[in-house]
Amino acid sequence: VPAAHDAACIFCKIIKGEIPSFKLIETKYLYSFLDIQPVTEGHALIVPKYHGAKLHDIPDEYLSDVLPTAKKLAKALGVDTEGLDNPVGYNILQNNGKIAHQEVDHVHFHVIPKRDKDTGLV
Ligand code: 5GP
Ligand code: ZN
Repeated sequence: VPAAHDAACIFCKIIKGEIPSFKLIETKYLYSFLDIQPVTEGHALIVPKYHGAKLHDIPDEYLSDVLPTAKKLAKALGVDTEGLDNPVGYNILQNNGKIAHQEVDHVHFHVIPKRDKDTGLV
């Protein structure tokens, strides 16, 4: 159960296992899983186990392993490795507020792999 949680929040439900997800990495402070509507193949989300809408609402400890987790995901995607369909780059993205294209009001970081064919996508 997230330290602060909202029973109606879709990401709180995913963290609690009430809604299924394709889990990638879980730590004491975060839960990472595949995005249901991937912008590119392997699009992942990293979600702090604390319900807060915007980045500045989240205590620092719940953000402490976000970038290390993003690094692990990038390595697991094979960004540095020769491979037929390995990404050659990636975006780390985090939206705050409707004006900034946030749809789910529980802080999350996108990891969006980029392959040569993905040029031009967000
Ligand atoms: P935002 O626009 O808020 O930054 O991104 C929200 C993301 O959450 C979107 O990419 C959307 O596809 C993803 N998402 C929304 N609901 C679910 C869900 O139930 N499961 C998963 N895996 N991803 C979701
Ligand atoms: Zn939540």
